[in-house]
Amino acid sequence: MTSKERSGAVYGGIEAGGTKWVCAIGTGPDDVRAEMRFATTAPDETIARAVAFFRDYQRTEVLAAIGVGSFGPVDLALHSPTYGFITSTPKSGWMNTDVVGGLQKAFAIPIAFDTDVNAAALAEYRWGAAQGCDIAIYMTIGTGIGGGAVVNNSLLHGLLHPEMGHMRLPHDMERDPFPGACPFHGDCLEGLASGPALAQRWGQPAEQLPADHPAWPLQAHYLALALVNLICILSPQRIVLGGGVMDQPQLIGLVQREVQQTLNGYIRALAILDDIARYIVTPGLGNRAGVLGAIALAARAISV
Ligand code: ADP
Ligand code: ZN
Repeated sequence: MTSKERSGAVYGGIEAGGTKWVCAIGTGPDDVRAEMRFATTAPDETIARAVAFFRDYQRTEVLAAIGVGSFGPVDLALHSPTYGFITSTPKSGWMNTDVVGGLQKAFAIPIAFDTDVNAAALAEYRWGAAQGCDIAIYMTIGTGIGGGAVVNNSLLHGLLHPEMGHMRLPHDMERDPFPGACPFHGDCLEGLASGPALAQRWGQPAEQLPADHPAWPLQAHYLALALVNLICILSPQRIVLGGGVMDQPQLIGLVQREVQQTLNGYIRALAILDDIARYIVTPGLGNRAGVLGAIALAARAISV
């Protein structure tokens, strides 16, 4: 892909989150020329701040395209009347927001649009922990849980886009009587294992739970069940786990071990049997995967 990109082109990227937006200008991890972050407020105001940031830069240099990795759900179907919208989000004021339209009115350049997690998956595939993989998954465990996937150099869309955070898991009500926090499903993965679910179940913010708290083996159990489903369905060569909850350093090791135990030797791949520490990993790009992914989306939009 790189060889077909326009040489010398500079891109804009927006990691459009429900809490904050991060805007950047550049071509990749070693070349970020400007960056700005601000809180997500009302849609018009938030989009206007992003437009002002890119306009300012365009006084001196030309942007070839802008990429957006957005919280969702979003409409990614190019011919849909609501393409480029944030659609059914529970986030107040943001339902049916035309993100691409708002940017396209301001800039006559291609605007690429995808989910925040697909963007992060693309960045990890291009520059981070999932380089060289035919199939890779990026999952964030934060305020919500979401997953994106690169499959043979494409991002998975299909019907809508993957909603890995809302898969259903076996839930042992004796071990864990917490009913779950998802407004749609109760005890789906996000309902059981997001940061807010941890806070509700244990009565204190996730970041304040000590490393030896029983919260963490239970958390690893749910994440491992989810990853085992994904491994069985998509056969990824690497899984990258990001988001604030993964800032618990002991958690990734617990997840790795429980994935091995749950698969029970059935999937005879060395990555799982012998090399799990390099199979389920934290992001190679740290917390910059999202915004760098948005830049990578922009680069794709003009590659031939
Ligand atoms: P968002 O999902 O809103 O983009 P984050 O990925 O930072 O943001 O996730 C925020 C969630 O992560 C919050 O629910 C918070 O309680 C949780 N969190 C943040 N730091 C930690 C930590 N060190 N350990 C466990 N949970 C954490
Ligand atoms: Zn759900």
